[in-house]
Amino acid sequence: MSDAIEIKGLKKTYAGSGKAAPKEALKGIDLSIPRGSVFGLLGPNGAGKSTLINILAGLVVKTEGSVKIWGWDQDVNPRQSRASIGVMPQELNLDPFFTPRAALEVQAGLYGVPRAQRRSDELLEMLGLADKAHAYARTLSGGMRRRLLLGKALVHNPHILVLDEPTAGVDIGLRQMLWDNVRRLNQEEGKTIILTTHYLEEAEEMCDQIAIINQGEKIAQDTTANMLGRLDAKAMVIVPDHDVTTMPQGEGLDVSRRDDGALVIRYRSNTTTADRVLGAVREAGITIRDVKTEEADLEDVFLELTNTGRAHARG
Ligand code: ADP
Ligand code: MG
Repeated sequence: MSDAIEIKGLKKTYAGSGKAAPKEALKGIDLSIPRGSVFGLLGPNGAGKSTLINILAGLVVKTEGSVKIWGWDQDVNPRQSRASIGVMPQELNLDPFFTPRAALEVQAGLYGVPRAQRRSDELLEMLGLADKAHAYARTLSGGMRRRLLLGKALVHNPHILVLDEPTAGVDIGLRQMLWDNVRRLNQEEGKTIILTTHYLEEAEEMCDQIAIINQGEKIAQDTTANMLGRLDAKAMVIVPDHDVTTMPQGEGLDVSRRDDGALVIRYRSNTTTADRVLGAVREAGITIRDVKTEEADLEDVFLELTNTGRAHARG
């Protein structure tokens, strides 16, 4: 059986306009996404995630390479490949004059879903929008718009659901609701889910496989478990009670001093315990006023995988 998505040598160069130079957003990506998985596409802003997803959605035209969706080559079988995938875009682009119900019906019409097979009311119910079925889109909150976009991605009951930064800037309640729906669609309806996020924790919780892209190139792909094993970097920030004269030392500890006098100690949680880090601090004769630990986040991961430098201690 084919993979849900099979991408080979995918390139995209956006033509420059006016004084803007052309931008090579994807530099030759190979990517296979197994059927039935919840797949996380991670990367910093500008990495090319939305470009890749918008190519899958048929919203952006690729420059080079091949894209197969559910076994259908996008160029050879455009209709079948389009029918296999539903995309919830990053931008909240909704026609302000359609009610949620009308927006779903119009979308279903665009996908050629026969009236008898439409499920607008079911989707509105599922997304908690039933009582807004006939409200104008422009009166909907950001969260409601996002839910409606999810509904639009599902009107044709696609095998693959793609979510581009679904939880960027949304409140906890909506985030929970989106994730509950995504889990159910995966587990009960067997849909393959592809999502982008820059919250590592979210990817960790939701995804069974992760690919990381940076500057238009895939730099890693692995199961989430393996990936996190690589990403066990932690940092402890120590606020000393006095000027530090002797820096703490120890194998596996990477110590630096911030401008404000705090010490940032980086270590790997697989091989070093927090207790050992604190021990090294005390051995250096440092009295601790305050301490906190920071998990690796995606930024650390990138810096580590791309070897471009060291993360700044945050907060
Ligand atoms: P991401 O979703 O990972 O943040 P994008 O795919 O949106 O990244 O963007 C990748 C790169 O392509 C960025 O440098 C971005 O500025 C550029 N880009 C995206 N869309 C366009 C466009 N329509 N025209 C020109 N450049 C674009
Ligand atoms: Mg994006």
